[in-house]
Amino acid sequence: MTTILYIEDDAGSQVLVQRVLAHAGYDVVLASNALEGIDRARKNPPDLILTDINLPDLSGREITVRLRADHRLTQIPIVALTAVTQDEEREKAFVAGVTGYITKPIDVDTLPDRIQEYLQGRKDKADTGTLAEASRAYHQELVERLEANVRDLEASYRELRRIDQIKDDFIQLTAHELRTPLTTVYGYTRLVQTSPVIQAIMQQDSDVNTCLTGLITAIDRLHSVVNEIITVSRIASGRVDLKPGPTSIREVIEIAVTAYTPVMQQRSLTLTYNSPQWPPQFFADMGLLELAFSNILSNAIKYTPDNGTITISSQIEDKEVHVSIKDTGIGIDPAEQPYIFDRFYTAGDTQLHSTSKTAFRGGGLGLGLAICRGIIEAHGGRIWVESECCDEEKMPGSTFHIVIPLQIELSKPTPPDG
Ligand code: ADP
Repeated sequence: MTTILYIEDDAGSQVLVQRVLAHAGYDVVLASNALEGIDRARKNPPDLILTDINLPDLSGREITVRLRADHRLTQIPIVALTAVTQDEEREKAFVAGVTGYITKPIDVDTLPDRIQEYLQGRKDKADTGTLAEASRAYHQELVERLEANVRDLEASYRELRRIDQIKDDFIQLTAHELRTPLTTVYGYTRLVQTSPVIQAIMQQDSDVNTCLTGLITAIDRLHSVVNEIITVSRIASGRVDLKPGPTSIREVIEIAVTAYTPVMQQRSLTLTYNSPQWPPQFFADMGLLELAFSNILSNAIKYTPDNGTITISSQIEDKEVHVSIKDTGIGIDPAEQPYIFDRFYTAGDTQLHSTSKTAFRGGGLGLGLAICRGIIEAHGGRIWVESECCDEEKMPGSTFHIVIPLQIELSKPTPPDG
């Protein structure tokens, strides 16, 4: 059956033309905007394309230019629907490469015959006298539309940045507001924990003991969650406040490793140190470096299946400390590598992701590496990844490299997505 792709945004015309052509024995495929039409034509090239000239996203001329660039569609008749009064529009359509045109309002009695003529090879002639002028007008129109689109995109981008900023501020404000009363509650729980009178009551009464222990544990957790939100939202939005002090990278890594040792044992993951050459103490923010290394290690655990190996190497190169964390996990597709340090970017099949920080393919929000980059760059350092590919059968593994100067100049970090 002969297939006609009809690109039209007006619902009334869609119904009318489809009925008339279907009645004449054609199979009519509808597309209600230009991009949908282009996609349909590329996926299943029809025998003829009938397109309205004025569509909201791209014009019928732009559709024609786009489709003619596809070698399978160079010979397909493309017929433009134009208003009777649009002489200039029609000439521009010829410049773009249409085969012919049918004027609107459509004459339903003659439409099937006209379509048949185009299918049999009819080609309408442009008025060559005005073609050069039409060509100029057409190119002018393209540039104007391009300019308008770029301006729109710029405006949307600015608006998105503004909304993103509002969201960041809101998160931070909320977390700060929560922290103030929480600090008081947290202080009282500390008092409760240390008060001999309360301790004596807790020992005597197991119900009181259960209640207070539960309360203290929950408040401890809430306190650290709120603090984590404040730190994470500041770092992820590029605002890192370094509190530098004497720092030992060896200690930083040992603290991160100790926190994950039980889970590594549970998942039968082996941790090895590859002849590490630990640097002397240097001036850095030890707490934030712990957070960075802990995120990388957590990822190495998350993306490596049970029985894998994680290798940590460290050496001093040119007044810089270079630490690498290598795993035997699923690896990262090179096409995704430039983006994994962006905020909220998660590579691979995100549907498989749960929120566990340590289960295989546990996944997360895509903030961990943005935080790492924020911290490392605030120290004047660099972070990058090497991985051959992502393959859950071969397990090519990934190696994350972190380089930090031993003489840190406290510079401004790059904004996370910039
Ligand atoms: P998430 O919280 O989702 O793990 P991250 O910012 O830490 O977010 O990491 C971003 C993405 O990078 C992850 O979704 C994951 O696909 C990929 N990734 C990070 N580390 C590894 C790794 N060691 N092995 C394989 N993929 C990784």
